Amino acid sequence: MEKKVEKYDVVIIGGGAAGLTAAIYCGRAKLNTLLIEKSLVGGLATYTNEIENFPGFPEGTSGLGLMDLYHKQAKKFGVKFKLTDVKGVKLDAETKIVETFRTNYEAKVVIAATGGKPRLTGAKGEDLFLYDKGISFCATCDAAANTGKTILVVGSGDAAIEEGMFLTKFADKVIVSVLHDTGKMDCNEIAKGEALANPKMEFIWNTVVEEFAGTQHLEKVILKNVKTGELIPVPVDSCFLFIGYIPNTEIFKDILDMNKPGYLITNEKMETNFDGVFAAGDVRDKFLKQVSTAVGDGAIAGYAAEKYIAETETFHSQIMRDDMPGLVYLWNAVDPKCREYLPIIEKIEADYRGKIRVTKVDIYKSSGIANRLGVKEAPSLVSISHGKINKIYTDGINEKELADLLATG
Ligand SMILES: Cc1cc2nc3c(=O)[nH]c(=O)nc-3n(C[C@H](O)[C@H](O)[C@H](O)COP(=O)(O)OP(=O)(O)OC[C@H]3O[C@@H](n4cnc5c(N)ncnc54)[C@H](O)[C@@H]3O)c2cc1C
Repeated sequence: MEKKVEKYDVVIIGGGAAGLTAAIYCGRAKLNTLLIEKSLVGGLATYTNEIENFPGFPEGTSGLGLMDLYHKQAKKFGVKFKLTDVKGVKLDAETKIVETFRTNYEAKVVIAATGGKPRLTGAKGEDLFLYDKGISFCATCDAAANTGKTILVVGSGDAAIEEGMFLTKFADKVIVSVLHDTGKMDCNEIAKGEALANPKMEFIWNTVVEEFAGTQHLEKVILKNVKTGELIPVPVDSCFLFIGYIPNTEIFKDILDMNKPGYLITNEKMETNFDGVFAAGDVRDKFLKQVSTAVGDGAIAGYAAEKYIAETETFHSQIMRDDMPGLVYLWNAVDPKCREYLPIIEKIEADYRGKIRVTKVDIYKSSGIANRLGVKEAPSLVSISHGKINKIYTDGINEKELADLLATG
């Protein structure tokens, strides 16, 4: 089957908090932007009923409600959405390709915002009971179906304990399997205090899941005490796993730089190892994975995408244009040495108007152009002829040398 081809300025993969924020920035910058999401626009944040730490909502907000606002805002700025799974990417050329089943999307910039997925325990029987058969990862989605039931929560981080407490509003009993010694949990102290005081919550310390058991539906989770080896059968109606996440980076494997667990490595501008490819949100290797930090990453990636596209345009249409020789002065306005050479460059510009195109590039503001020219320091001067880099001068720029250079073309 011949695939359709669609062209965009920016393709964002993943419609969670990071992808949606990047979309808002790109859309508002009037870039032709597509966001591709394979399941639910809003991403992981829609799993949580209560977000209490996102600034601006003193009473808290639901993840679904918050993400719905992001979605509306991105649509308002003209961002297009496709609900489909990205199967592969080609990122090494200036035009990047994002492949789905039916269509190849071509883009000047790709933003990877694919987040993560819940980690499984790997225990026996787990794959038999995933999702609608008793093992869940989303309290918001499945709490009501557990009204009056007994639930096992696995994990003791913020998500496990906060979602566990939310589940007590519906379930009769929420039993929590904690890996650590009695009283020790990975969550914040406020959540810990509230959970320990909650009469509907029980804790089984020093345990991991050994086996999930049942016939059609999950009926029992067998826990194992990691200190004594004792097996503890726990009859339950369902089990919620909150034991961390693994990054959704399969499509970037062997292409983008990642750390050992598979999180994408970026710099502070969200740039990956490929020009024009940015990563944002939980998919990145970073210290804190939250909605607020996903939003920050998305904003930077969106802004960086806009700058990258503008710089690419300047690079091709002005700097490398082959209608006449060019001189590019890479300077930094705060550096006295750069300012010292500026009058010489401006004189050349006036003397050779119509014969040589002189472009001044602030290396601090337009580091992308400097990178493309292979220049790392300022002041530097790059001579261009026939659309190619001729020579790079990094020190001792003087009027005579420039005159000689210009005389020899
Ligand atoms: C239960 C729970 C409670 C939480 N509570 C809080 C809280 O109270 N406060 C807080 O700040 N944070 C909380 N978080 C964390 C927060 O939800 C995440 O940090 C945030 O949602 C990350 O956003 P993201 O955009 O980086 O990734 P995600 O939200 O994971 O979005 C990534 C999106 O990419 C899509 N995707 C992946 N691969 C592909 C592909 N190949 N093709 C197309 N689409 C793809 C996924 O379907 C997903 O929708 C919680 C998380 C959970 C699970």
